[in-house]
Amino acid sequence: MQTKLFVANWKMHKTVKEALNFLNDFIPAVEKIKDREIGIAPTFICLESVGKAIKNTNIKLCAQNAFYEKKGAYTGEISPVMLKDLNVEYVIIGHSERRKYFNETDEIVNRKIKSCIEEYLKVIFCIGETLEERQSNKTFDVLKRQIEKGVEDIINPDYIVIAYEPVWAIGTGIVATESQIEEAHGFIKERLKNLYGERAQAIRILYGGSVTPENIYSIMNTENVDGVLVGGASLDPVKFSKIVKYEEQIN
Ligand code: PEP
Repeated sequence: MQTKLFVANWKMHKTVKEALNFLNDFIPAVEKIKDREIGIAPTFICLESVGKAIKNTNIKLCAQNAFYEKKGAYTGEISPVMLKDLNVEYVIIGHSERRKYFNETDEIVNRKIKSCIEEYLKVIFCIGETLEERQSNKTFDVLKRQIEKGVEDIINPDYIVIAYEPVWAIGTGIVATESQIEEAHGFIKERLKNLYGERAQAIRILYGGSVTPENIYSIMNTENVDGVLVGGASLDPVKFSKIVKYEEQIN
């Protein structure tokens, strides 16, 4: 069985002080947990102090993005080499907000994934359809395209985690139904099997989109869900620790 993964995506929230305050409450709430992975993706400017605060804990440092070049004249960008230097373990790539607001195409996402893997960074590769695509029955075409282009020329899938995040469920309070998640994750698993054969078994598939302590139990008990990527609810140490301890949230 796969080790479950719970990742907080803080987006553009929290100053260094706020991030450290969060950890003061969160670390003791989860410190005894050993059977699952927990990650926090703060903003770039919080990486160093969060990294120091979680050193020697069971929490892994994650980044929200990376550029595909190692260094150079790219004002405002951060490279995988720099993230590795700060002991980042996972990098979120292809988040729908990056695709939407920063025009990241499948090709850019593919270059970023490759560049992270070259530095031995694990990638949380986000895919998901918009509401319009779902309503016009294009969900599976979109997922197929995003997966195939995103991992193009990547022979070794060991550093890849997929996050299925239907765009219409992100930050909206509308969570995908168990059957929608099961269907999408099953489809993703099949595509990965086509690409990587038996090695695909090791690729974890996370769900993301309005995850809360109230819905985490049923999400985690859905077929082929190996963890979650959490936005809004991960900003609160109590809510995120409840999500990590999902078995206790039966309601
Ligand atoms: C996300 O941005 O990855 C996300 C899932 O956000 P939220 O949990 O707020 O829907």
